[in-house]
Amino acid sequence: SKINIAIDGHSGCGKSSTAKAVAKALGYKFIDTGAMYRAITLYFLEHDIDITDEQAVKAALENISIDFQHNPESQKNETFLNEQNVEEEIRGMRVTHKVSNVAALKQVRVAMVAQQQAMGKEKGVVMDGRDIGSVVFPDAELKVFMTASTEVRAKRRQLELREKGQEVALDEIIKNLEERDRIDSTREEGPLLKVADAVAVDTSEMKFEDQVQKVLNLAQQ
Ligand code: C5P
Repeated sequence: SKINIAIDGHSGCGKSSTAKAVAKALGYKFIDTGAMYRAITLYFLEHDIDITDEQAVKAALENISIDFQHNPESQKNETFLNEQNVEEEIRGMRVTHKVSNVAALKQVRVAMVAQQQAMGKEKGVVMDGRDIGSVVFPDAELKVFMTASTEVRAKRRQLELREKGQEVALDEIIKNLEERDRIDSTREEGPLLKVADAVAVDTSEMKFEDQVQKVLNLAQQ
């Protein structure tokens, strides 16, 4: 029978691509929760929302709807913000620089966690993020905590951005990864942490296929 799989970990260690491949192999649904925080961040940027203004944040959240649609052409789950495809935009550095501050807001997390829990009501979901095993699905049958060295993570992220036509210096990427990890790990609400029942997987020296296989093996146990 179907299970839910939670994949948490630091920024840029390959959680999303692994989760996506695992979901495909199992015929499960893949949900990238980082994309949801990124979409909110894009909205906040476009509407100049002051994140220290609780009323403004509340009002903004009421005007935001996020969903995913499968694009058969790209074989990707694309992110929609208020019916607009924002998949490209949310991956850029403008959003990446701000997202952890937005994701640290309690109101934002409460709204997103509720939506994520609803998406995973029926088993057969692979969800990746920072608080999936701790907050969203504390009862997930499999929890994975992925890590990788900062250097490996930064180089992978640089390649990904390059493939999208963005050239970003390695130091800028390293600074951003470390900054996001710091904010994500120290926030009050849903901090990034490894829960006791999560299996740690260090992908620094692993090939992508082996990462996927490792999670599939754990899922079949
Ligand atoms: O996974 P990704 O790097 O796209 O996530 C972007 C940011 O969203 C993270 O750096 C983190 O601040 C936030 N995030 C979060 N909780 C999640 C997923 C992402 O706080 N479940």
